[in-house]
Amino acid sequence: MRTIATWPLDALPPADVPVEFHTPCTRVGRDLRHLPAGARLPDGARWELSEEPWSGFLLGLGSARGLRYTLETDPYLPPGPLTALIAEQAQDHLTGYEFLQWPTCPGHVHLLVPAADPDDGARARWHCRRSGRPLVRIGDLSAGPWAKA
Ligand SMILES: [Zn+2]
Repeated sequence: MRTIATWPLDALPPADVPVEFHTPCTRVGRDLRHLPAGARLPDGARWELSEEPWSGFLLGLGSARGLRYTLETDPYLPPGPLTALIAEQAQDHLTGYEFLQWPTCPGHVHLLVPAADPDDGARARWHCRRSGRPLVRIGDLSAGPWAKA
């Protein structure tokens, strides 16, 4: 496995990261800065991208202590589905291994569900698990009333 790059959650990736990852990682990373009150990621949490000869790109999060995962991630998905996939992988890891509920639905106790926008292949949104309704674009959790959610 060859590490291609690591970079801060909401920073633009370095030039050797395929351009397809840039916007999805930046948007999900921005939402990762928006954790429930009292919760925090391990210090120095960063994106990590590596490459396996037979399985392609592995994307995930890492930090000096604790936090670490990388999962096969196909950069050639359309941007909306790719953003939803990256958000889902981060959410699964944070829920399962860091015991961190991210992001939670305002007014409910459940997690929001990431999904590609069926009408716009470039976008993905967070949905309420109960109503199924899209609530906010992935990357925009800090906007408006979501800032307090
Ligand atoms: Zn809800």
